[in-house]
Amino acid sequence: MVERASNTKRRRKGRSALRPDTALVPVGEPEREIYVWSLPGCCLRSFKEAVLAEAGDRRRLELECASCGRSWRVTSSLDERVLDRFVTHGGPRVGGSYPAA
Ligand SMILES: [Zn+2]
Repeated sequence: MVERASNTKRRRKGRSALRPDTALVPVGEPEREIYVWSLPGCCLRSFKEAVLAEAGDRRRLELECASCGRSWRVTSSLDERVLDRFVTHGGPRVGGSYPAA
């Protein structure tokens, strides 16, 4: 798929900023949890698009990056828009049986 030309120039301040406290894991590697700002640029872009999209009434199980094909799961977030868009998959920390690093 080719990159889309920027057809939407308008962006509202504040609304488009993501909170930094969202954590994700690569699918299949539940121990490699990272914060959203550590995502590769292409994945971060896909994530933002998914979160900021207005339509849709069902939450996604995971994010699939259209550029690199990697899949990510949201493990935790305090951002309402993220929680609205994605099912959160509790990481090892939620189970409580994970020893502190
Ligand atoms: Zn990517």
